[in-house]
Amino acid sequence: MSDSHPDAPKIIVPALVADAMHRHEQACAPREAAGLLAMRGQTVTDFFPVTNQDQSDSSYSIAGADVLTCANQAEARGDRVGGVMHSHPKGPAYPSDTDIREAAASDWVYIITSRGSLNAYLLSAGRVIPLTVSSSPDE
Ligand SMILES: [Zn+2]
Repeated sequence: MSDSHPDAPKIIVPALVADAMHRHEQACAPREAAGLLAMRGQTVTDFFPVTNQDQSDSSYSIAGADVLTCANQAEARGDRVGGVMHSHPKGPAYPSDTDIREAAASDWVYIITSRGSLNAYLLSAGRVIPLTVSSSPDE
């Protein structure tokens, strides 16, 4: 699933959550899909599909109201919104120059899907840090 270094920081994306992301990706194709991640610790506990305001095949943006709604839902369960997912219908599951430049929250996890693959990154001050993606804590 990931070709990152074995010592890379780890994130847990349960299979049901990954499936939900891929379904949203397929539903939005050929445009970029976007969604938010509910997290507890290093585990993605839920995925909130949202509207890509750009309706574009090469960019995405998420309404502030959607972020608030998802944050409230996550916090009601003791989780938090800790990252964002989007898809690359045309390119690899690797951050684009725009993704790196526009990474708004340096502690957020950025998940990028592309035609069945799923990678996760931290994007901090222009740096791309790949995360090791596991489907369970035991892997
Ligand atoms: Zn992108």
